[in-house]
Amino acid sequence: MADVCGEIALFDIDGTMAMYDEAMERDLAKLRSPEETAAYPLHGEEQPEWLRARMDMIRSVEGWWLNLRPFSLGFDVYKITKELGYEIHMLTKGNLRISNAWKEKVEWTRKHLGASQRITITQEKGLVYGKVLVDDYQKYVTSWLAWRPRGLVIMPASPTNKDFFHPNVIRYDGSNLAIVRMALEQQVNRANGEPLTLDESWQRSGRVYDCFGSYLFGIRFVRGDAFEKSFDATAT
Ligand SMILES: [Mg+2]
Repeated sequence: MADVCGEIALFDIDGTMAMYDEAMERDLAKLRSPEETAAYPLHGEEQPEWLRARMDMIRSVEGWWLNLRPFSLGFDVYKITKELGYEIHMLTKGNLRISNAWKEKVEWTRKHLGASQRITITQEKGLVYGKVLVDDYQKYVTSWLAWRPRGLVIMPASPTNKDFFHPNVIRYDGSNLAIVRMALEQQVNRANGEPLTLDESWQRSGRVYDCFGSYLFGIRFVRGDAFEKSFDATAT
C-alpha cells in the first residue's frame, strides 16, 4: 500500500455508502407483531433492550451486511472527492457484539469500491484524522468535529438528521450536489491553518425533500435501484 500523501476524505458506510436503514426497517417489519404500531428508533441511545436484541439478531445473519445496497447519496459525494484528488478512506464503527460485521464490511467495500479501497474500522471515529468526513449520524459528526474546527462534513440526508445544523456541515439530499462540490473544492484548496468558512446558504441547503416527510425514503429507494445498474466505482 502506498504511503498516505493526499488530503484525506473519510466515508462512513452504514447510511452513507450503504442503505442500512432500508434493510433494517424491512427486516424489523418481518418480526413485528400485529399489536406493535410504534415506529422503531433505528439509532440512538433510547432503544429498548428488546429492540436492540432484535436488531442484533438481524445483523448477525450471515450475508446481511454484505448484501446492503449501495446508497446513491454517498456515492455521489465519493465520485466528486475522487475527481478532486482526495485520498479516500472508509471509516466505520465496529460492533463489538457482532464480529461478522467487521468481516462483511471489508467484503462490502471490496465488492462495491474495489480491492484497493482503504478502510478503517474503529470504536471512536473522533480519533481518526481527515480533512473531510462524510457521515449521516450526528453523534459521530459532533465527536469528530470536536477535535477538528476546520474539518468539513458532508451529511447524507436521512429523517434522523433533518434538524441538525452546524457551521461546518452541509447536508446533502440529492438536490444540492453543486454546493457539495464547491465546498469540497474549497476544502481541498484550503491551506493548513486557514479557517473553514462555509457560505450560510450552503449550510441551509440539502433540505428540499424533508417537506415530503416519509417520501424521502421513496426517493432513496428509486435512486438506489437506478444507481445499482449504472455505477461502477472501480471504473472511475
Ligand atoms: Mg452511518
